[in-house]
Amino acid sequence: MARYIFITGGVVSSLGKGLMAASLAALLQARGYRVRIRKFDPYLNVDPGTMSPYQHGEVYVTDDGAETDLDLGHYERFTGVSARQSDNVTQGRIYQTIITKERRGDYLGATVQVIPHVTDEIKAFALAETDDLDFVLCEIGGTVGDIESLPFMEAIRQLHNDLGRGNSIFVHVTLVPFIAAAGELKTKPTQHSVRELTSLGIQPDILLCRCEQPLPASERAKIALFCNVRPEAVIPALDAPSIYSVPAQYHAEGLDEEVLRAFGIEDAPQPELSRWIDIMDRYANPEGEVTIGVVGKYVGLPDAYKSLHEALVHGGLANRVKVHIRWIDAELFEQPDSDIAARLEPMHGILVPGGFGVRGSEGKIASVRFARERGVPFFGICLGMQMACIEGARNTAGIANASTTEFGETSEPVVGLITEWMSKEGLQQRSAEGDLGGTMRLGAYPAKLTGNSVVSGIYGATEISERHRHRYEVNAAYREPLEKGGLIFSGMSPDGQLPEIVERPDHPWFVGVQFHPELKSKPFDPHPLFAGFIAAAVKQSRLV
Ligand code: GLN
Repeated sequence: MARYIFITGGVVSSLGKGLMAASLAALLQARGYRVRIRKFDPYLNVDPGTMSPYQHGEVYVTDDGAETDLDLGHYERFTGVSARQSDNVTQGRIYQTIITKERRGDYLGATVQVIPHVTDEIKAFALAETDDLDFVLCEIGGTVGDIESLPFMEAIRQLHNDLGRGNSIFVHVTLVPFIAAAGELKTKPTQHSVRELTSLGIQPDILLCRCEQPLPASERAKIALFCNVRPEAVIPALDAPSIYSVPAQYHAEGLDEEVLRAFGIEDAPQPELSRWIDIMDRYANPEGEVTIGVVGKYVGLPDAYKSLHEALVHGGLANRVKVHIRWIDAELFEQPDSDIAARLEPMHGILVPGGFGVRGSEGKIASVRFARERGVPFFGICLGMQMACIEGARNTAGIANASTTEFGETSEPVVGLITEWMSKEGLQQRSAEGDLGGTMRLGAYPAKLTGNSVVSGIYGATEISERHRHRYEVNAAYREPLEKGGLIFSGMSPDGQLPEIVERPDHPWFVGVQFHPELKSKPFDPHPLFAGFIAAAVKQSRLV
């Protein structure tokens, strides 16, 4: 039976619980254990799919087509374990399930209540699909004391009992702030937070204390005394030079040791950390640097492009270079006096990421044109590929009115709404008036690559599978004029209907993909397209 580690947060939000869960899972994995991480989100949206990236950051898509919290991206990047729909649940989904059951009459006339019905549903979610695992880490979103998270706290309290002695532990993440005026670290917020937690019936086994200054032994002892944990179980979590040094740092502070001790496991093998040490070495000792311009819409919030940011870093690790990312608001290039050349000339590579809506699109198209004409490495992802096709249609195929139906009616739908496609579950059908939530082409789909294309060289394969999240598709009816203009369709869906990849063989590096390769990149296994793009940017940096 799997052992459970419940991770809660206190004092303030944004302490990086997701990263901590991912790092702890990576350490247990490095000791040979099989792990899986789950996220419980207390908000009432059914999933984050319909939330603005400005509200919630990136929507992370799994192979099985779930739109999930961005923490699942951390989990996957740190453990290599592919996340699934069953790894993220929101309170909204829990209620949706319960209300559907209630309408069907499944409760046989009973009054449906938070306890036991909501808590039972949460527990069922925590326990599902956990065969073959040694540890399940469950991260509870939000902060202790939030009204929304109460049913989740109650559910994990119950689970702790249900699972039996020694089969689950609680890790609480808190903040130990440094008050500059007093020159002191303050433990009181942690004490209050733990008191709040114990009032819900949860006594933490381990406290992970975020702090900007080293935590002296005296403060550690004080926290231990007031919070009823062993001093060794008060683990300082200082800021790290990179997120990829967090696992090794926590190991040095004894986190995994304490977790195993809390379970009473004494004979665990030492962790094999060589892959993390290699990543840290590559990160700390780059042999060069490149600057990549990302021309997008949500540039004000780095979390909106979390996986993209990480995948670019991984591309840098693969080439042993530091990647500087310049986030550029596409709308800048729509102003009459904007000097696009002055902005983009310092870039060794230009990337147009995924996105929704017309705002900034002309700026993105102008950036594609700049990259194409100047021979600067270009990478278009999802909407970025669609923009590359529209740019190609307008400027190399003589289709002046080329556009996408996403932006309104057009006489030249080079990109259009797709209403039917095949998936593993059979024929999928959509209409323009349908629901927005969960109705895109989502999750892993295969593609076939042309034998001697640039991308088949990069992948070293002609059959690939990548994750999708989009409603519109490049219209294969425009293949001939686009290819005449030099934009080759080098990857297609297996039935030959849907363009998956375009490239310009006469350009140093110009690739557009309909899917999101950034979702599958890992620090120890950088995605080949990102490794290839950064390699091309390194070449470019030697030219300019
Ligand atoms: N808005 C485009 C579509 O729905 C692209 C989506 C994306 O970039 N993820 O097809």
